[in-house]
Amino acid sequence: MSTRIKGTIASPGIKIGKAYVYKTAETIIPKYLIKESEIESEVHRYHQSLEKTRDEIKAIQEQIAQSLSTDMADIFTSHLMVLEDPIITEKAINSIRTEKRNVEWIINDITLELIKSLSTIDDDYLRERIIDISDINKRLINNLQKRHTDSLKDINEEVILFSRDLTPSDTAMMDRNRILAFVTDKGGRTSHTAIMARALEIPALVGTLNSTSMVRDGDTVIVDALHGIVIFNPTKEEINEYRRNIKDLQALDQELAKFTHLPSKTTDDIEIFLYGNIEIPEEMSIIKGHGAQGIGLFRSEFLFLDKSLPDEEKQYQEYRKVAEHFNPMPVTIRTLDVGGDKIYSYNQEYKERNPFLGCRAVRFSLEHEDIFRTQIRSILRASTLGNVKIMFPMISTIEEIIRCREITAECMSELSALGIPYDENIPIGIMIEVPSALINADKLAKYAHFFSVGTNDLIQYTIAVDRISEKIAYLYNPLDLSILRLLKSIVETSKKFDIPLSICGEMAGEPRYTMLLLGLGFREFSMSSAYMQQIKRIIRSVSITECDDLVKVLLEMETTDEKEKYLLQTLRSRFPWLTP
Ligand code: PEP
Ligand code: MG
Repeated sequence: MSTRIKGTIASPGIKIGKAYVYKTAETIIPKYLIKESEIESEVHRYHQSLEKTRDEIKAIQEQIAQSLSTDMADIFTSHLMVLEDPIITEKAINSIRTEKRNVEWIINDITLELIKSLSTIDDDYLRERIIDISDINKRLINNLQKRHTDSLKDINEEVILFSRDLTPSDTAMMDRNRILAFVTDKGGRTSHTAIMARALEIPALVGTLNSTSMVRDGDTVIVDALHGIVIFNPTKEEINEYRRNIKDLQALDQELAKFTHLPSKTTDDIEIFLYGNIEIPEEMSIIKGHGAQGIGLFRSEFLFLDKSLPDEEKQYQEYRKVAEHFNPMPVTIRTLDVGGDKIYSYNQEYKERNPFLGCRAVRFSLEHEDIFRTQIRSILRASTLGNVKIMFPMISTIEEIIRCREITAECMSELSALGIPYDENIPIGIMIEVPSALINADKLAKYAHFFSVGTNDLIQYTIAVDRISEKIAYLYNPLDLSILRLLKSIVETSKKFDIPLSICGEMAGEPRYTMLLLGLGFREFSMSSAYMQQIKRIIRSVSITECDDLVKVLLEMETTDEKEKYLLQTLRSRFPWLTP
């Protein structure tokens, strides 16, 4: 008998395969007593692990000193001080000898004791050291265990991956020839892991709550990421049925491929621009192959996932690749948007109570001007090699855009002084993804050459619903009246101030919202490749007049349920081929 559970569709597709349960790197503390004869080898293990950890920290420090600054590298000096503290070392060795407990157990107890005493002291500096101490503890214990934690890079057969959760960087490392699909217990549709899955065209379901506890390595499973279900141990009939579905899907893909190079114009001859969202430069050919007329959103943060920060040259090479590939089509590079669910290694120790409301995106860049300036200089340098635009994420105040422009102007002067060319008229735009930016859009218009609406965050901040929470996913609905009203208002403001406007949140890439967005007045869409051809097909078969009429009806309806039903009914009658 098969079992079925539901999940949220993060990236469409159907796959049948063998399950692989991904064990993430949680630190496990083994606890056992040692014999008298094992004491010396236990002390030796401790010294070895100290040495290995010291080497690791020094390597990180050197890398940061080279790619960033010695000031930044100094952050790790306090790690080394903790590691090499003679009192701690002596205490650990004494305890191994007298208590005859294994070294991981002892290190962990000493760490807990230290943390406990530091957390009662009313001194911010000392309290910050808690993070250093727990980081050292983790490193020491991992080095002691030589424990093999799964690495997605090591998977060398075709599998369907199950995991409690995945970070966007885990997903970025996936080889789509091996990982046929993935399923996570946690996460929502607009988490960056989901976005990454769409970008890499890996079918994925998220927010299944407990799939990892229902599956074992090697089980046969079907991931139906068109209807949002996982089937464990399917029957022969189910497998045959799904094989037929996969064939139908391939036929639909072939049919849709015909739309790739046809113009995206409505039946009343209004041209609609379709741009691509990319996370890594490697995606540029896929998205161009789907008919993208340029890049509307290059999420540059994925270049920052490595342990060390990318320097100006490295970033320049990545940006120029994309700029040249699309030239003369536009490429909009968004500056670093870390924070929220996108934590990059450099910043891992900094935990916030409300990460999505914290030092995220442009706030982080303005706080770390050296990182920001390096990025702006590299974008400016790439701007002579194509049609490059620069975009700042999560602008929430007018001061922020003013400061961003000042810094950009200063970077331009630096490049001029060095005789390095750049596009002096590079368009500078902002993401509209925080209600305050939308409310002040008339004023922001003075400082921006273009706006791009980020509905993923706009929905999150307007309805006060965490975009990655599976528990309250029901609240995260683009059809909420507040969202429709806000979208209508930004179109009106942009028209009034003659500011080019695009929309690049996930809503723009979902066929079910295409008619609605056209009716609201959007003419530029930026999306991942997943549904680009379906959206083109819709655009080519509707008129703006009928989309306007649809919006009039939807704006009169109060509940999202009503709107959803009406919209689905309309779509079903107009486009029977459309998958839900
Ligand atoms: C958005 O918020 O809609 C957006 C496009 O940005 P991100 O998903 O990267 O936060
Ligand atoms: Mg955003």
